[in-house]
Amino acid sequence: MLTLTGVLGDPVGHSRSPAIHNAAFEALGLEWRYVKLPVAADLFAETVRALPASGYRGANVTIPHKEAALALADHVGDAARTIGAANTLTFGDGAIHADNTDAAGLLAALPVTPQGMRALVLGAGGAGRAAAWALRQAGADVTVWNRTAERARALARELGVAAVEVPDPAELVVNATSVGLRPGDSIEELPLAALDPPELAVELVYGDHETPFAAWAAAGGVEVVEGLEVLIRQGALSFEHWTGREPPVDVMRRAARASSRT
Ligand code: NAP
Repeated sequence: MLTLTGVLGDPVGHSRSPAIHNAAFEALGLEWRYVKLPVAADLFAETVRALPASGYRGANVTIPHKEAALALADHVGDAARTIGAANTLTFGDGAIHADNTDAAGLLAALPVTPQGMRALVLGAGGAGRAAAWALRQAGADVTVWNRTAERARALARELGVAAVEVPDPAELVVNATSVGLRPGDSIEELPLAALDPPELAVELVYGDHETPFAAWAAAGGVEVVEGLEVLIRQGALSFEHWTGREPPVDVMRRAARASSRT
């Protein structure tokens, strides 16, 4: 029988996760499928509760449901609990398990271990929280900047990192804002003009065009980890939760890149 997985969100039309996961299932010879599950907020909980009996083993969760996913789970992993958001649900033994693979996915995408590095996270939304928590757990010295300063201060208090209104130089800078998502976005929306180039830049935004943050980093000769690589790595970790199999990351990367051209 076909086993199902999918992505719950509103909207999900743009998602590359079906291409990434279906390529991985095929590569491992699994009779599994990954589908888009567009669902509005008021129907989220009842939809999720109906999935296990409909052949679903799990689902990714994206905007705007990551907090609701946490609230309805029977078991919650440490990362999801501390970050306050879940992006992966796994159904088994009559229970719903919630995890956050955005955090570990970001660490898996880095070419170095961030231990001992000064890390600056731009953004204090869901992605900023996951990035700050992941980097702190990995031993980095983390500061967070956010356009709305109070939000950065609240995140800093909760996660045990520092909030800044004017960023200090850092060896690693993560763009966890949504600046770059819209084609007209400008680098001036981020506080980077007076900042020395870091050693490594991580762009969480992904799309079909180079983002202002990635362009800023590349102009300074900085190595850039792309948002698509972080997406692939968090997907690979979700795949492992559901299947118990080692994810074929190279296959997933090829599928992600091919889907970006379609
Ligand atoms: P979110 O919760 O809505 O947070 C948005 C963040 O962007 C907030 O910090 C917000 O600041 C900031 N922001 C928005 N417009 C801004 C502007 N014009 N200037 C400065 N800051 C601005 O969204 P999210 O879930 O954290 O996602 C953020 C981005 O990360 C999205 O583009 C998402 O696609 C991406 N993401 C990628 C991955 C991946 O795997 N690659 C995973 C998760 C998220 P305020 O608080 O001041 O509004």
